[in-house]
Order: sequence, then structure tokens, then C-alpha cells
Amino acid sequence: MDFSYTPEEEAFRMHARRWLEVNAPRDIPDRGFSLPTDPAAIAALRDWQRRLFEAGFLGLSWPVEYGGQGKTIVYSAIMSEEMARVRAPSALNLIGLSMAGPTILEHGTAEQRRRFVPKILSCEEIWCQGFSEPGSGSDLAALTSRAELAGDEFVVNGAKVWTSHGQIADWCMLLVRTEPDQPKHRGLSYLLVDIHSPGVSVRPLRQMTGEEEFNQLFFDDVRVPRANLLGRQGGGWGVALTTLMNERATLSLSIVARFRNTFEDLKTLALRAIAERATPLDPRVIRQTLAQFYIDVESMKYLAYRNFSRLLRGGTPGPEGSISKLLWSELNQRMNEFALAIQGPAAMLVEGSPHAVEEGRWQYGTLRARGNTIEEGTSEIQRNIIAERLLGMPRGS
Ligand SMILES: Cc1cc2nc3c(=O)[nH]c(=O)nc-3n(C[C@H](O)[C@H](O)[C@H](O)COP(=O)(O)OP(=O)(O)OC[C@H]3O[C@@H](n4cnc5c(N)ncnc54)[C@H](O)[C@@H]3O)c2cc1C
Repeated sequence: MDFSYTPEEEAFRMHARRWLEVNAPRDIPDRGFSLPTDPAAIAALRDWQRRLFEAGFLGLSWPVEYGGQGKTIVYSAIMSEEMARVRAPSALNLIGLSMAGPTILEHGTAEQRRRFVPKILSCEEIWCQGFSEPGSGSDLAALTSRAELAGDEFVVNGAKVWTSHGQIADWCMLLVRTEPDQPKHRGLSYLLVDIHSPGVSVRPLRQMTGEEEFNQLFFDDVRVPRANLLGRQGGGWGVALTTLMNERATLSLSIVARFRNTFEDLKTLALRAIAERATPLDPRVIRQTLAQFYIDVESMKYLAYRNFSRLLRGGTPGPEGSISKLLWSELNQRMNEFALAIQGPAAMLVEGSPHAVEEGRWQYGTLRARGNTIEEGTSEIQRNIIAERLLGMPRGS
């Protein structure tokens, strides 16, 4: 494994750094996957993504003919590091960039790629992922939303749930059952659905953070052109696996850079609390715990590099992404919860109280992090994947 960069890659890093120092918005905090509720803040994020695209910083490893930059994924990694360095907010169309784009590039026809990929990059069309249903999350292949072919259109009926960013999305990666008489994994198809079609309704769900980040989607006789079938009819499971593997692989890369920031912030909080004698914790416990977090973040980094060099050698994201996903999701919960332990009783104070610490940042983080071990597949499911696909253990019953 070679961790050094070529002169061209170093030149790109300096170019990105200079551009970000001038252009990164200072007034929008980096909240990762979470969306602001204020429409003006959404508009500002949309504009931010457009500017990133126009400056040539998005789709770095995607083909030039579809709006990408035709470089290697090393450039995407450099960009993620530089964005984290100045704490720039993520691009708004995160699901489009990390999931829809790579899946359409891999399974789409030339016409589908031309139609969809450039607008994912420019943020003209925002995407969401309609996979989970009320009765099928972990057991995704058991889903019951169905589509029937009528002439040149599929007619879709059913409901999806936990659809992140559905409230701002224009398009949905929709997994539906088209062959009900086939075994469950073989009867699925993957449709690209315009959310604004007649018969689609979006109902936001409020999370314990108080935000409405995900939604229920209802499909009532929604007509989808046959041309929007991605992959072959009945081959949706294979296409969906591409989406899921990309979700775990691409998100883990950018997450490492962001976790270094979280770790540094936690260290700052700890040092200040110790200096001001404002923590009920024994400083020796804080020291031990921070050392362990540091080791965990470093492990995440090397694991991401290993997955990354596999991709560079031409591989596709594989089950190894489950290790990264497990590590970051559980570490994020432990780091946020430890911040509250450092704050002690002050952790209970709400935003705006005279003694509230850092405007409730760690409180928000603690609540939001609970979802980390559920989204993208739960920790139990990741351990099943690791046991079965990496360790060769027999399937559980
Ligand atoms: C913040 C957030 C955002 C999300 N965004 C999206 C999105 O954009 N699009 C989308 O389609 N979905 C999304 N999801 C849904 C997510 O993928 C599912 O919640 C997840 O797959 C779990 O499914 P479930 O909620 O139905 O739980 P269940 O599958 O019912 O699981 C319940 C419990 O049983 C355990 N369990 C289930 N099966 C097994 C097994 N075989 N072995 C061991 N334990 C098992 C699980 O680990 C869990 O603890 C999101 C979820 C969250 C929390």
C-alpha cells in the first residue's frame, strides 16, 4: 500500500485547499447527513453544491461524458479531506452522489446515464432511496410494494418508510416486486421514479432530534415509464446490492475525515472541562477513554485506506464496507455519549441556558447517533455479513 501522492495529486490538493478557503460557506455548519429545516438553508446548500460542481470538485472519478472529471478516486479522497479540514458542509445531494450516481453509472444504459448523472452532480435533481418498508428493513428482499407492467409503463402501488431526504427529493431509487411468483430475491426490479408523479405522496416523520429528516412515501397507481427500469426486470436485487455497497464504501471515506474533527472537538471539550474543574469524571478516566477513541479513529482510517486501495486496483466495494460501517456508527455513539459524561449534570441543560455547553451540539449528536447503528443496515446485519461473507460461517436460521 502506497500512502504517498503523485505531484499532480498534491497540486490538486493545494488547488482545492485554496478554493475552499475562499469559497466554503462559513455560516452553514457541517451536519453530515442531517438536513437543516430552514428552506433558506436548503437553498444555500443547493447553491453550495452547484458551485462545487462548477468548480470541478464533484464526480471526480466519474466519466467526463456524464459531467464527471475522469480522475481516480484518490482525488475524491483528497477532496473529502480538504472539505473536512475547513469544516465545509457536505454537498446537499448526498444520496444522489453516494448511491444513485454510482448505481446508474454501473447498471444504466447510455441514455439513462446521460439523462440522470449530470443533474445529480449539479444538484438540479435531488435523490432519495426507497428501499425499506414497514415490514421489511433488514429483510429487504421481503418487500411487498409492487409494480405491474401495462404497455410501456409500470404501475406502482405500495409504501416505503424511513426515506431520508424524501421531503426535498425529485427522484427516488425504488425497489419493487415485479415477479410475485418468483423466489423473493429474484422477483424484484429497480425503478427510477419521479417523486413529482401523480399518485406519490410524501409524509415527513419526526425523529427524536425534533427534525424531520426521513419520510413515509406512498405510491398509489403511480405510472413509471418502462425506460426508467434500471438493469433487467427481475434483476433488481443485484442492482440494489450495488447501491448498498456504495453507500457503505463511499460514506466511510468521507466519514473518517469528519471523525478526526469530532475527536479534536471532544479533546478540546475534555481539556477545558479538566482545566475548569467542570467535570465529574476523574481526569485519568478521560485520558484513557480519549486514547482509545484516538486508536479507534486511526483504525478506521487505515481500514478505509485498505478498502480504498482495493477500489484503486479496480475492485468494486465489497462486504469489507460492513467493518467500517460498524466501527464508525458505534464509535460515533460512544464519542457523543462520552462528551455528555464529561459535561456531567450540565449535559441536561437545554440550548440557550446560561450554562449550556456548546449550544447542545453533543446532545444533538447523541440523539442523532442512535440512528447510525440502524441506517445503512443495523449492526446485527453488518455482523451477519462479516460472519457469512468474510469469515465463511454458515448462514443463521
Ligand atoms: C436515520 C435513518 C435513515 C434511514 N434512511 C433510509 C433511507 O433513506 N432509505 C431506506 O430505504 N431506508 C432507510 N432507513 C431504514 C433502515 O435501512 C432500516 O431501518 C434498517 O434496515 C432496519 O430495518 P427495520 O427498521 O425494519 O428493523 P428490523 O429489520 O425490523 O430489525 C429490528 C431488530 O432486529 C434485528 N434483526 C433483524 N434481522 C436480524 C437478523 N437476521 N439477525 C440478527 N438481528 C436481526 C435488527 O438488527 C434490529 O435490531 C433509515 C433508517 C434510519 C434510522
